[in-house]
Amino acid sequence: MRIGIINIEPKICNTAYMQLAGYHKRRGDTVEWWTPLTDRLFDRVYCSALFDFSDKSEVPKHAICGGTGFDVKSRLPVEIEYSSLDYSIYPNCMTTYLWFSRGCVRNCPWCVVPEKEGRIHPAVPRNLNPKGRYITVCDNNFFASHDWRKAITWLINCGQPVDFQGVDIRIITDEQCRALTKLRHYKRIKFAWDVPGDEEKILAGIDRLRRFVPLHKCMCYVLVGYNSTEEQDLHRIETLRGLGLDPFVMPFDKTELYQRTLARWVNHKAIFKKVKWSEYRKRVEEQETAGTGWVT
Ligand code: SF4
Repeated sequence: MRIGIINIEPKICNTAYMQLAGYHKRRGDTVEWWTPLTDRLFDRVYCSALFDFSDKSEVPKHAICGGTGFDVKSRLPVEIEYSSLDYSIYPNCMTTYLWFSRGCVRNCPWCVVPEKEGRIHPAVPRNLNPKGRYITVCDNNFFASHDWRKAITWLINCGQPVDFQGVDIRIITDEQCRALTKLRHYKRIKFAWDVPGDEEKILAGIDRLRRFVPLHKCMCYVLVGYNSTEEQDLHRIETLRGLGLDPFVMPFDKTELYQRTLARWVNHKAIFKKVKWSEYRKRVEEQETAGTGWVT
C-alpha cells in the first residue's frame, strides 16, 4: 500500500506519524508526505494534529484523522500504538521522544491530559532515534509515577543528555532532586507554578531543589489568564525573578491582549530585564489604541 501523511504542523515532529510509519513500513507499505497534488496516488491518507487551531482546510474528506487537534479522545489502533517509531520521516529530528509514564495524578481543569490519558500509568520506552543527540522525556508528571527510579536508571544507562518536559515541583523529594543531579541535562529543568494558591508548596519545592541544582539551571512556567488576577500573575513572576529563577509565561488564551502582552514582556528577556511592566503595558495599550500594533 502507498500511505500518505499530511504535514499540517510542519514545525512539530509528530510521534504518531513516526508510529504510523514504523507500522506500515514493517508491513511492506511505503510512507510519504502527502500533498494536494499527489493525493490520488495514495491508497490511504492519514492526518494527525496536536492543536485544534491548526489549519485543516486542505485535509481531504477521505483522510483518517486523529490526535488532540481533532479529538482529544482519539486513539491510535493498538497495533500502531505499540509500534516502534520511524524517525527517518523527520531527518532533521535530533531528539528521541520517550514516555516512561502516561497520564497524570492531578486533574487540572485547563489540561487535556486527564481526559486524554487518564490516571498515571507506566509506559514502556520505545526505540532510540539513530540520529538522536538527546532524549526528550515527555512524561506529564515524571516523578508522580511509581516507576520513576527505574526510569532514572534507564536514562543514566542510556548516557544521553535529557530534557524533561516538566517536573512537579510541589511533590519533589530529596531523593528525586538527587536523581536529577545524576543526569546530564540538555536544557534547563522545567516546572510550573500554574495556580496562585499553590505558593507554599511551590516555594517549598523550589527551596528543596535549590539545595541540589542551581536555580539558574531551572525555569518555571507561569500560567496566566486562568482564574488569576493581574496582581497574582505579577506576584508569581516577581517572586520567581527574586529567587533567581527564569519565569516563562504561558497564556491560557492568546487572543486576549493582556495575556499576550504579559507573555511577551516576560518571555522576551531583553524587555523583561530593562522595562517595567507598567511602562510596557502602557506602551502596548497606546499602540493598540493608535492602531499601530506592537513596536517593542
Ligand atoms: S499536573 Fe500538568 S499534566 Fe497533570 S493535569 Fe496538571 S497541567 Fe496536566
